[in-house]
Amino acid sequence: MSSIQALRGTRDILPSESPLWETIERLARHVLNQFAYREIRTPLFEQTELFARGIGEATDAVGKEMYSFEDRGGRSIALRPEITAGLVRAFIQNKLFAQGGVQRLWHLGPAFRYERPQAGRQRQFHQLDVEILGSRDPRADVEVIAIATQLLNTLGLKALTLELNSVGSSEDRQSYREALVRYLTPFAHELDTDSQDRLIRNPLRILDSKDKRTQEIVTEAPSLLDFLSHDSQKHFEGVQQHLTNLGISFNINPRLVRGLDYYTHTAFEIQSADLGAQATVCAGGRYDGLVAQLGGPDTPAIGFGMGIERLIILLEQMKRFSTVPELDIYFISRGEKAELQSAILANQLRQQGYSVEVDLSGSAFGKQFKRADRSGAVVGLIVGDAEAEAGKVQLKWLGSGDQAELSQADLMAQAKDLKAKIAQRRADLA
Ligand code: ATP
Ligand code: MG
Repeated sequence: MSSIQALRGTRDILPSESPLWETIERLARHVLNQFAYREIRTPLFEQTELFARGIGEATDAVGKEMYSFEDRGGRSIALRPEITAGLVRAFIQNKLFAQGGVQRLWHLGPAFRYERPQAGRQRQFHQLDVEILGSRDPRADVEVIAIATQLLNTLGLKALTLELNSVGSSEDRQSYREALVRYLTPFAHELDTDSQDRLIRNPLRILDSKDKRTQEIVTEAPSLLDFLSHDSQKHFEGVQQHLTNLGISFNINPRLVRGLDYYTHTAFEIQSADLGAQATVCAGGRYDGLVAQLGGPDTPAIGFGMGIERLIILLEQMKRFSTVPELDIYFISRGEKAELQSAILANQLRQQGYSVEVDLSGSAFGKQFKRADRSGAVVGLIVGDAEAEAGKVQLKWLGSGDQAELSQADLMAQAKDLKAKIAQRRADLA
Protein backbone atom coordinates (compact mmCIF):
# COMPACT_ATOMS: atom_id res chain seq x y z
CA MET A 1 0.00 0.00 0.00
CA SER A 2 1.36 3.43 -0.83
CA SER A 3 1.90 5.71 2.14
CA ILE A 4 -0.14 8.85 2.65
CA GLN A 5 1.56 12.13 1.73
CA ALA A 6 1.03 15.61 3.12
CA LEU A 7 -1.25 17.80 1.02
CA ARG A 8 0.35 19.84 -1.75
CA GLY A 9 1.42 23.24 -0.51
CA THR A 10 1.76 22.10 3.11
CA ARG A 11 5.02 21.28 4.88
CA ASP A 12 6.16 19.52 7.98
CA ILE A 13 8.38 21.69 10.11
CA LEU A 14 10.94 19.13 11.21
CA PRO A 15 12.83 19.12 14.52
CA SER A 16 15.94 20.33 12.67
CA GLU A 17 14.01 23.43 11.55
CA SER A 18 12.22 24.13 14.83
CA PRO A 19 15.09 26.08 16.43
CA LEU A 20 14.75 28.75 13.70
CA TRP A 21 11.00 28.99 14.28
CA GLU A 22 11.58 29.22 18.01
CA THR A 23 14.13 31.97 17.50
CA ILE A 24 11.70 34.00 15.42
CA GLU A 25 8.89 33.45 17.91
CA ARG A 26 11.09 34.35 20.88
CA LEU A 27 12.44 37.52 19.31
CA ALA A 28 8.99 38.52 18.05
CA ARG A 29 7.55 38.14 21.55
CA HIS A 30 10.41 40.19 22.95
CA VAL A 31 9.99 43.06 20.49
CA LEU A 32 6.20 43.03 20.85
CA ASN A 33 6.55 43.23 24.62
CA GLN A 34 8.83 46.21 24.20
CA PHE A 35 6.07 47.95 22.26
CA ALA A 36 3.37 46.87 24.78
CA TYR A 37 1.43 44.65 22.36
CA ARG A 38 -0.66 41.81 23.81
CA GLU A 39 -1.19 38.40 22.31
CA ILE A 40 -4.62 37.29 21.13
CA ARG A 41 -5.41 33.86 19.67
CA THR A 42 -8.32 33.46 17.33
CA PRO A 43 -9.79 30.38 15.60
CA LEU A 44 -8.36 28.98 12.38
CA PHE A 45 -11.81 28.86 10.81
CA GLU A 46 -14.63 31.36 10.75
CA GLN A 47 -17.89 31.97 8.94
CA THR A 48 -17.13 32.47 5.25
CA GLU A 49 -19.14 35.67 5.39
CA LEU A 50 -16.56 37.29 7.68
CA PHE A 51 -13.95 37.16 4.94
CA ALA A 52 -16.39 37.92 2.12
CA ARG A 53 -17.59 41.03 3.96
CA GLY A 54 -14.29 42.01 5.53
CA ILE A 55 -11.76 41.33 2.83
CA GLY A 56 -13.99 41.33 -0.23
CA GLU A 57 -14.85 38.91 -3.03
CA ALA A 58 -12.85 40.97 -5.52
CA THR A 59 -9.55 40.06 -3.87
CA ASP A 60 -7.55 36.99 -4.85
CA ALA A 61 -7.34 35.81 -1.26
CA VAL A 62 -11.15 35.54 -0.98
CA GLY A 63 -12.37 35.39 -4.57
CA LYS A 64 -9.94 32.78 -5.85
CA GLU A 65 -7.86 31.28 -3.08
CA MET A 66 -10.13 30.66 -0.11
CA TYR A 67 -10.68 27.22 1.37
CA SER A 68 -14.40 27.39 2.04
CA PHE A 69 -16.75 24.51 2.55
CA GLU A 70 -20.01 23.47 4.12
CA ASP A 71 -19.70 21.78 7.49
CA ARG A 72 -21.95 18.93 8.58
CA GLY A 73 -24.49 21.40 9.86
CA GLY A 74 -24.76 23.10 6.47
CA ARG A 75 -22.92 26.26 7.58
CA SER A 76 -20.56 27.96 5.20
CA ILE A 77 -17.12 27.90 6.81
CA ALA A 78 -13.70 29.05 5.65
CA LEU A 79 -10.13 28.45 6.76
CA ARG A 80 -8.77 31.91 7.40
CA PRO A 81 -6.84 33.31 4.40
CA GLU A 82 -5.30 35.96 6.67
CA ILE A 83 -5.53 36.93 10.32
CA THR A 84 -6.81 40.52 10.47
CA ALA A 85 -10.49 39.81 9.76
CA GLY A 86 -10.77 37.23 12.56
CA LEU A 87 -8.90 39.47 14.95
CA VAL A 88 -11.26 42.35 14.22
CA ARG A 89 -14.24 40.02 14.68
CA ALA A 90 -12.83 39.08 18.09
CA PHE A 91 -12.28 42.74 18.93
CA ILE A 92 -15.93 43.48 18.21
CA GLN A 93 -17.46 40.32 19.68
CA ASN A 94 -15.50 40.57 22.94
CA LYS A 95 -16.08 44.32 23.13
CA LEU A 96 -12.40 45.07 23.50
CA PHE A 97 -13.28 48.58 22.36
CA ALA A 98 -15.19 49.06 25.62
CA GLN A 99 -11.86 49.20 27.45
CA GLY A 100 -11.38 52.53 25.72
CA GLY A 101 -8.28 54.01 24.24
CA VAL A 102 -6.01 52.03 22.02
CA GLN A 103 -5.75 48.24 21.71
CA ARG A 104 -2.43 46.79 20.64
CA LEU A 105 -2.75 43.15 19.59
CA TRP A 106 -0.75 40.44 17.91
CA HIS A 107 -1.18 36.87 16.83
CA LEU A 108 1.07 34.33 15.14
CA GLY A 109 -0.42 31.34 13.38
CA PRO A 110 -1.28 29.60 10.13
CA ALA A 111 -3.37 30.96 7.27
CA PHE A 112 -4.61 29.07 4.21
CA ARG A 113 -4.81 29.96 0.55
CA TYR A 114 -5.37 27.76 -2.46
CA GLU A 115 -2.38 29.00 -4.49
CA ARG A 116 0.12 27.35 -6.79
CA PRO A 117 2.85 26.14 -4.42
CA GLN A 118 6.36 27.44 -5.11
CA ALA A 119 9.27 28.91 -3.17
CA GLY A 120 7.80 31.31 -0.61
CA ARG A 121 4.25 30.37 -1.49
CA GLN A 122 2.37 27.61 0.30
CA ARG A 123 -1.24 26.63 0.86
CA GLN A 124 -0.77 26.58 4.61
CA PHE A 125 1.65 29.29 5.68
CA HIS A 126 2.22 31.31 8.84
CA GLN A 127 1.81 34.97 9.55
CA LEU A 128 2.81 37.19 12.40
CA ASP A 129 -0.05 39.64 12.54
CA VAL A 130 0.29 42.91 14.45
CA GLU A 131 -2.54 45.41 14.81
CA ILE A 132 -3.21 48.66 16.63
CA LEU A 133 -6.87 49.66 16.89
CA GLY A 134 -8.32 52.97 18.00
CA SER A 135 -5.87 55.57 16.73
CA ARG A 136 -5.90 57.77 13.67
CA ASP A 137 -2.56 59.28 14.60
CA PRO A 138 0.25 58.86 12.04
CA ARG A 139 2.40 57.82 15.00
CA ALA A 140 0.34 54.62 15.14
CA ASP A 141 1.21 53.87 11.51
CA VAL A 142 4.86 54.43 12.28
CA GLU A 143 4.68 52.38 15.47
CA VAL A 144 3.70 49.20 13.62
CA ILE A 145 6.28 49.85 10.92
CA ALA A 146 8.88 50.31 13.65
CA ILE A 147 7.92 46.95 15.16
CA ALA A 148 8.44 45.21 11.82
CA THR A 149 11.73 47.03 11.27
CA GLN A 150 13.04 46.29 14.73
CA LEU A 151 12.15 42.61 14.51
CA LEU A 152 13.83 42.25 11.12
CA ASN A 153 16.90 44.12 12.39
CA THR A 154 17.06 41.98 15.51
CA LEU A 155 17.05 38.92 13.28
CA GLY A 156 20.00 40.46 11.47
CA LEU A 157 18.27 40.68 8.10
CA LYS A 158 19.82 43.00 5.57
CA ALA A 159 19.01 44.27 2.09
CA LEU A 160 15.44 45.09 3.06
CA THR A 161 13.50 48.00 1.64
CA LEU A 162 10.39 49.65 2.98
CA GLU A 163 7.97 50.59 0.20
CA LEU A 164 5.43 53.18 1.24
CA ASN A 165 2.28 54.61 -0.29
CA SER A 166 -1.00 56.19 0.61
CA VAL A 167 -4.16 54.84 -0.97
CA GLY A 168 -6.16 57.71 0.53
CA SER A 169 -9.67 57.60 1.91
CA SER A 170 -12.36 55.58 0.16
CA GLU A 171 -13.60 58.83 -1.47
CA ASP A 172 -10.11 59.62 -2.77
CA ARG A 173 -9.92 56.14 -4.15
CA GLN A 174 -13.32 56.40 -5.80
CA SER A 175 -12.26 59.38 -7.89
CA TYR A 176 -8.87 57.81 -8.60
CA ARG A 177 -10.56 54.59 -9.63
CA GLU A 178 -12.62 56.45 -12.22
CA ALA A 179 -9.56 58.20 -13.62
CA LEU A 180 -7.63 54.94 -13.73
CA VAL A 181 -10.40 53.08 -15.55
CA ARG A 182 -10.71 56.01 -18.00
CA TYR A 183 -6.98 55.77 -18.69
CA LEU A 184 -6.84 51.97 -18.94
CA THR A 185 -9.97 51.30 -21.00
CA PRO A 186 -8.39 52.12 -24.38
CA PHE A 187 -5.63 49.58 -23.54
CA ALA A 188 -8.07 46.95 -22.28
CA HIS A 189 -7.26 44.35 -24.98
CA GLU A 190 -3.51 44.69 -24.30
CA LEU A 191 -3.75 43.98 -20.58
CA ASP A 192 -3.08 40.49 -19.23
CA THR A 193 -6.25 38.47 -18.74
CA ASP A 194 -6.27 38.87 -14.94
CA SER A 195 -6.03 42.61 -15.33
CA GLN A 196 -8.84 42.69 -17.89
CA ASP A 197 -10.99 41.01 -15.30
CA ARG A 198 -9.82 43.48 -12.64
CA LEU A 199 -10.67 46.44 -14.82
CA ILE A 200 -14.26 45.76 -13.80
CA ARG A 201 -13.89 44.13 -10.38
CA ASN A 202 -10.85 45.71 -8.74
CA PRO A 203 -9.00 48.12 -11.08
CA LEU A 204 -6.48 49.34 -8.48
CA ARG A 205 -4.94 45.91 -8.33
CA ILE A 206 -3.90 46.27 -11.97
CA LEU A 207 -1.14 48.55 -10.66
CA ASP A 208 0.23 45.46 -8.93
CA SER A 209 0.33 43.25 -12.05
CA LYS A 210 3.51 41.30 -12.70
CA ASP A 211 2.81 41.16 -16.47
CA LYS A 212 5.40 43.07 -18.52
CA ARG A 213 3.10 44.78 -21.02
CA THR A 214 0.60 45.66 -18.31
CA GLN A 215 3.41 47.18 -16.27
CA GLU A 216 4.46 49.32 -19.25
CA ILE A 217 0.91 50.59 -19.69
CA VAL A 218 0.61 51.30 -15.99
CA THR A 219 3.81 53.40 -15.92
CA GLU A 220 1.94 56.23 -17.62
CA ALA A 221 -1.24 55.85 -15.55
CA PRO A 222 -2.40 58.70 -13.32
CA SER A 223 -0.84 58.56 -9.83
CA LEU A 224 -2.91 57.84 -6.76
CA LEU A 225 -0.95 60.50 -4.89
CA ASP A 226 -2.45 63.23 -7.11
CA PHE A 227 -5.91 62.25 -5.91
CA LEU A 228 -5.35 62.55 -2.17
CA SER A 229 -7.55 65.02 -0.30
CA HIS A 230 -5.92 67.63 1.91
CA ASP A 231 -6.47 65.50 5.03
CA SER A 232 -5.11 62.36 3.41
CA GLN A 233 -2.12 64.30 2.20
CA LYS A 234 -1.51 65.60 5.71
CA HIS A 235 -1.68 62.14 7.23
CA PHE A 236 0.76 60.78 4.67
CA GLU A 237 3.20 63.62 5.36
CA GLY A 238 2.91 62.94 9.09
CA VAL A 239 3.83 59.30 8.55
CA GLN A 240 6.87 60.24 6.47
CA GLN A 241 7.98 62.81 9.04
CA HIS A 242 7.81 60.34 11.93
CA LEU A 243 9.61 57.65 9.94
CA THR A 244 12.38 60.11 9.20
CA ASN A 245 12.55 61.09 12.88
CA LEU A 246 13.05 57.44 13.80
CA GLY A 247 15.71 56.97 11.13
CA ILE A 248 13.62 54.46 9.19
CA SER A 249 14.29 54.93 5.50
CA PHE A 250 11.56 54.35 2.95
CA ASN A 251 10.83 54.52 -0.70
CA ILE A 252 7.59 56.11 -1.89
CA ASN A 253 5.93 53.81 -4.38
CA PRO A 254 2.71 55.26 -5.83
CA ARG A 255 1.92 51.91 -7.44
CA LEU A 256 1.87 49.99 -4.19
CA VAL A 257 -1.68 48.85 -3.54
CA ARG A 258 -2.53 46.11 -1.12
CA GLY A 259 -4.47 43.10 -2.31
CA LEU A 260 -7.15 43.44 0.30
CA ASP A 261 -10.07 45.83 -0.12
CA TYR A 262 -10.21 47.31 3.35
CA TYR A 263 -7.08 49.42 3.27
CA THR A 264 -7.16 53.22 3.58
CA HIS A 265 -4.30 55.76 3.71
CA THR A 266 -0.97 54.16 4.55
CA ALA A 267 0.04 51.03 2.65
CA PHE A 268 3.47 49.49 3.04
CA GLU A 269 5.55 46.46 2.20
CA ILE A 270 8.95 45.34 3.33
CA GLN A 271 10.75 43.51 0.58
CA SER A 272 13.98 41.60 0.34
CA ALA A 273 16.19 41.42 -2.70
CA ASP A 274 17.20 37.91 -1.58
CA LEU A 275 13.77 36.33 -2.03
CA GLY A 276 13.37 36.18 -5.80
CA ALA A 277 9.83 36.51 -7.12
CA GLN A 278 8.12 36.28 -3.71
CA ALA A 279 9.98 39.29 -2.35
CA THR A 280 7.51 40.64 0.18
CA VAL A 281 8.24 39.59 3.75
CA CYS A 282 5.85 41.96 5.43
CA ALA A 283 2.79 43.77 4.15
CA GLY A 284 0.39 46.05 5.91
CA GLY A 285 -1.57 49.21 6.04
CA ARG A 286 -4.33 51.25 7.59
CA TYR A 287 -7.92 50.02 7.51
CA ASP A 288 -10.06 52.69 9.10
CA GLY A 289 -13.31 51.30 7.68
CA LEU A 290 -13.07 47.63 8.55
CA VAL A 291 -14.31 47.58 12.15
CA ALA A 292 -17.47 49.49 11.26
CA GLN A 293 -17.97 47.38 8.14
CA LEU A 294 -17.98 44.27 10.33
CA GLY A 295 -20.58 45.75 12.67
CA GLY A 296 -18.38 47.34 15.33
CA PRO A 297 -18.09 50.97 16.41
CA ASP A 298 -16.21 53.27 14.06
CA THR A 299 -12.58 52.44 14.90
CA PRO A 300 -9.50 53.38 12.90
CA ALA A 301 -6.77 50.77 12.80
CA ILE A 302 -3.49 49.78 11.22
CA GLY A 303 -1.42 46.62 11.12
CA PHE A 304 0.65 44.20 9.12
CA GLY A 305 1.12 40.53 8.31
CA MET A 306 4.61 39.09 8.15
CA GLY A 307 5.17 35.84 6.26
CA ILE A 308 7.17 33.53 8.53
CA GLU A 309 8.15 31.02 5.79
CA ARG A 310 9.76 33.84 3.81
CA LEU A 311 11.63 34.95 6.92
CA ILE A 312 12.84 31.38 7.39
CA ILE A 313 14.16 31.31 3.81
CA LEU A 314 16.17 34.46 4.52
CA LEU A 315 17.49 33.21 7.84
CA GLU A 316 18.55 29.91 6.29
CA GLN A 317 20.50 31.80 3.65
CA MET A 318 22.31 33.72 6.41
CA LYS A 319 23.06 30.69 8.59
CA ARG A 320 23.23 33.06 11.50
CA PHE A 321 21.32 31.05 14.06
CA SER A 322 22.33 27.62 15.24
CA THR A 323 19.90 24.85 14.44
CA VAL A 324 21.45 22.50 17.02
CA PRO A 325 19.21 22.15 20.05
CA GLU A 326 20.70 23.28 23.34
CA LEU A 327 21.41 20.26 25.48
CA ASP A 328 23.49 20.29 28.68
CA ILE A 329 24.08 16.63 29.41
CA TYR A 330 24.01 13.33 27.54
CA PHE A 331 23.80 10.31 29.82
CA ILE A 332 25.61 7.13 28.83
CA SER A 333 25.11 3.95 30.81
CA ARG A 334 25.26 0.21 30.37
CA GLY A 335 24.31 -2.64 32.68
CA GLU A 336 21.23 -2.99 34.84
CA LYS A 337 22.47 -1.22 37.96
CA ALA A 338 24.16 1.55 35.99
CA GLU A 339 21.00 2.20 33.98
CA LEU A 340 18.93 2.45 37.15
CA GLN A 341 21.35 4.89 38.76
CA SER A 342 21.64 7.02 35.64
CA ALA A 343 17.85 7.34 35.38
CA ILE A 344 17.74 8.64 38.96
CA LEU A 345 20.68 11.02 38.50
CA ALA A 346 19.28 12.35 35.23
CA ASN A 347 16.02 13.16 36.91
CA GLN A 348 17.71 14.91 39.83
CA LEU A 349 19.78 16.95 37.39
CA ARG A 350 16.64 17.98 35.50
CA GLN A 351 15.16 19.15 38.77
CA GLN A 352 18.29 21.28 39.19
CA GLY A 353 17.49 22.91 35.85
CA TYR A 354 19.66 20.92 33.43
CA SER A 355 18.49 19.54 30.12
CA VAL A 356 19.47 15.89 30.05
CA GLU A 357 19.10 13.22 27.36
CA VAL A 358 19.43 9.62 28.45
CA ASP A 359 20.69 7.04 25.97
CA LEU A 360 18.17 4.21 26.11
CA SER A 361 19.83 1.87 23.63
CA GLY A 362 21.86 -0.34 25.97
CA SER A 363 24.33 -0.61 23.10
CA ALA A 364 28.13 -0.65 23.32
CA PHE A 365 29.78 2.40 24.90
CA GLY A 366 31.41 3.34 21.58
CA LYS A 367 28.04 3.73 19.90
CA GLN A 368 26.64 5.70 22.82
CA PHE A 369 29.65 8.06 22.71
CA LYS A 370 29.05 8.70 19.01
CA ARG A 371 25.45 9.63 19.70
CA ALA A 372 26.57 11.85 22.58
CA ASP A 373 28.89 13.74 20.21
CA ARG A 374 26.06 14.27 17.73
CA SER A 375 23.54 15.30 20.39
CA GLY A 376 24.88 18.82 20.84
CA ALA A 377 25.33 18.22 24.59
CA VAL A 378 28.20 19.93 26.38
CA VAL A 379 28.81 17.22 28.97
CA GLY A 380 28.63 13.44 28.81
CA LEU A 381 28.02 11.54 32.06
CA ILE A 382 29.00 7.90 32.02
CA VAL A 383 28.05 5.13 34.40
CA GLY A 384 29.24 1.59 33.72
CA ASP A 385 29.26 -1.47 35.96
CA ALA A 386 32.39 -0.34 37.84
CA GLU A 387 31.05 3.18 38.50
CA ALA A 388 27.69 1.78 39.55
CA GLU A 389 29.33 -0.50 42.12
CA ALA A 390 31.45 2.37 43.50
CA GLY A 391 28.71 5.02 43.37
CA LYS A 392 30.74 7.03 40.91
CA VAL A 393 30.31 8.71 37.55
CA GLN A 394 32.65 9.80 34.74
CA LEU A 395 32.23 13.37 33.58
CA LYS A 396 33.42 14.03 30.04
CA TRP A 397 33.60 17.44 28.34
CA LEU A 398 32.38 16.38 24.93
CA GLY A 399 34.11 19.10 22.94
CA SER A 400 37.62 18.59 24.34
CA GLY A 401 37.49 15.04 25.60
CA ASP A 402 38.68 16.02 29.11
CA GLN A 403 37.36 13.48 31.54
CA ALA A 404 37.26 13.14 35.33
CA GLU A 405 35.80 10.68 37.79
CA LEU A 406 33.79 11.86 40.76
CA SER A 407 31.35 10.40 43.22
CA GLN A 408 27.66 10.66 42.42
CA ALA A 409 27.16 12.52 45.68
CA ASP A 410 29.80 15.11 44.70
CA LEU A 411 28.22 15.49 41.27
CA MET A 412 24.96 16.53 42.86
CA ALA A 413 26.66 18.65 45.50
CA GLN A 414 28.57 20.56 42.81
CA ALA A 415 25.62 20.82 40.44
CA LYS A 416 25.55 24.62 40.65
CA ASP A 417 29.23 25.04 39.68
CA LEU A 418 28.76 22.68 36.79
CA LYS A 419 25.99 24.88 35.44
CA ALA A 420 28.31 27.89 35.28
CA LYS A 421 31.02 25.80 33.62
CA ILE A 422 28.60 24.52 30.98
CA ALA A 423 27.49 28.07 30.22
CA GLN A 424 31.14 29.12 29.94
CA ARG A 425 31.99 26.22 27.63
CA ARG A 426 29.00 27.02 25.42
CA ALA A 427 30.09 30.66 25.22
CA ASP A 428 33.65 29.59 24.29
CA LEU A 429 32.36 27.39 21.50
CA ALA A 430 29.97 30.02 20.08
P1 ATP B 1 1.63 38.11 -2.61
O1 ATP B 1 1.70 39.28 -3.51
O2 ATP B 1 2.98 37.52 -2.29
O3 ATP B 1 0.63 37.08 -3.04
P2 ATP B 1 -0.32 39.04 -0.75
O4 ATP B 1 -0.63 40.44 -1.08
O5 ATP B 1 -1.27 37.98 -1.18
O6 ATP B 1 1.15 38.66 -1.22
P3 ATP B 1 -0.78 39.45 2.06
O7 ATP B 1 -2.18 39.01 1.99
O8 ATP B 1 -0.50 40.86 2.23
O9 ATP B 1 0.00 38.88 0.79
O10 ATP B 1 -0.01 38.59 3.19
C1 ATP B 1 1.02 39.14 4.00
C2 ATP B 1 2.28 38.32 3.90
O11 ATP B 1 2.02 36.95 4.09
C3 ATP B 1 2.94 38.36 2.54
O12 ATP B 1 3.74 39.49 2.41
C4 ATP B 1 3.78 37.11 2.57
O13 ATP B 1 4.99 37.32 3.29
C5 ATP B 1 2.91 36.16 3.32
N1 ATP B 1 2.16 35.30 2.39
C6 ATP B 1 1.02 35.58 1.72
N2 ATP B 1 0.60 34.53 1.00
C7 ATP B 1 1.51 33.53 1.24
C8 ATP B 1 1.62 32.17 0.81
N3 ATP B 1 0.74 31.60 0.01
N4 ATP B 1 2.69 31.45 1.25
C9 ATP B 1 3.60 31.99 2.09
N5 ATP B 1 3.53 33.26 2.54
C10 ATP B 1 2.50 34.03 2.12
MG1 MG C 1 -1.31 36.58 -2.72
